Amino acid sequence: MESDNQLTIHEAHKLLKTKELSSVELTRAILKRIHNLEPKVHSFVTVTDKLALKQAQKADELIAAGGSNPLTGIPVLIKDNMCTKGILTTCSSRMLENFIPPYNATVVERLLALGAVIIGKSNMDEFAMGSSTENSAFFTTHNPWNLDRVPGGSSGGSAAAIAAGEAIYALGSDTGGSIRQPAGFCSVSGLKPTYSRVSRYGLIAFASSLDQIGPLTRDVTDCALVLNAIAGYDTKDSTSAPQPTTDYTQCLSGDIKGLKIGVPKEYFVKGIHKEVASAIQTAIIKLEELGASIEWDVSLPTTSYALAVYYIIAPSEASANLARYDGVKYGFSYSNTKNMWQAMEKTRQHGFGAEVKRRIMLGTYALSAGYYDAWYLKAQKVRTLIRREFDQAFTKYDALVTPTSPTVPFKIGEKMDDPLQMYLSDVCTIPVNIAGLPAISIPAGFADGLPIGLQIIGKPFAEESILKIAYAYEQATEWHKRRPNI
Ligand code: GLN
Repeated sequence: MESDNQLTIHEAHKLLKTKELSSVELTRAILKRIHNLEPKVHSFVTVTDKLALKQAQKADELIAAGGSNPLTGIPVLIKDNMCTKGILTTCSSRMLENFIPPYNATVVERLLALGAVIIGKSNMDEFAMGSSTENSAFFTTHNPWNLDRVPGGSSGGSAAAIAAGEAIYALGSDTGGSIRQPAGFCSVSGLKPTYSRVSRYGLIAFASSLDQIGPLTRDVTDCALVLNAIAGYDTKDSTSAPQPTTDYTQCLSGDIKGLKIGVPKEYFVKGIHKEVASAIQTAIIKLEELGASIEWDVSLPTTSYALAVYYIIAPSEASANLARYDGVKYGFSYSNTKNMWQAMEKTRQHGFGAEVKRRIMLGTYALSAGYYDAWYLKAQKVRTLIRREFDQAFTKYDALVTPTSPTVPFKIGEKMDDPLQMYLSDVCTIPVNIAGLPAISIPAGFADGLPIGLQIIGKPFAEESILKIAYAYEQATEWHKRRPNI
């Protein structure tokens, strides 16, 4: 059907189970939508038409045999920094323009084991560095709600595709906000799980102590369903947590009576759009009506250091992680040179874009002898203070709520000449990664037709409480049902 491409996972699953719809039909509907809209939206680096139809056929057989999981036969879009065996994985970088991994990331492996249908790989900021997808080496993704605006980043391709109906759900990665900020900008749901909840094996590293994979979906139930599939210990990722997982749909009761929610005032930063602040206040009042006990004016004073801490720690880790791209081991190689050193230099000069080079230089500087103590070590100490302050707050509150971003989606090109302005778009999401916490962004309104996201932050491994609150809010509002007119 025309509108099959707009189904949620749980809606599609029901239709697949009752045989009102087949996975092949659903996949065809999605592919048709992709080919109609891609000239405008540009969410995909790669569309895997043939493979998707083959997987859909297999999924239909699996369903016919009665062995069906909620994700079986459902088309998923994977951010292009997760390794997919035999499928181009570029990180939206010239450096990996021709890189075809010989193995799957654990998350991909887990989805495939459940009979998922991989529909393609999504555009992103190069190496996940950015807030708008404008740092992609290939093209910029456009926001389906307004094609002159950015979809957010770095998982902008994933978010835009879900809003536009080009996939049923997507995976993104979040180092400082890259799932939540684009989810907010595109009016979809985006969950960043607790650091170490989901395996990072096969996720091309940006900043290893901050990176985390999570879902972008059309509603909260779908976030829970995807988390069910991807969460859990992985022997291939030494940082993955041995903590048991649970069925994350079980907490979706709609009942939040008596839950204690704090509203940290530091997140209503200077320069926040009036419409954003007022939409978030309205959303919080809705949570109060639903029975939550709200404490306004909570103070987390170290919040103001989080952005600075992030822009020391993340580039430092990135500079180490990206040292491997020397033209010898992976992808792009500039070989027409006199000697090895020159080959490496030219490879990195031509293979990386401006933002990636900026981060490598910042990180190398912060880690160099003589500056290490003043910058990197200091940042690590402040990181501990930020984490402790959250720990303290969570002795009193079950969750904290904030805007996802201080602004609505900005115009393409508007912040490209001013990296500091660009960095500020993650001011509300970054503290969460610094402390390794779980957080979700859900649709919470519009200003002049542009989406506004509500962020709900939880204690480590308390994905259930934020999903519960998000679900209650979603069920009491209609924002998540709106679709862009494209
Ligand atoms: N926008 C932030 C950055 O550029 C966060 C990116 C991310 O979460 N991957 O670093």
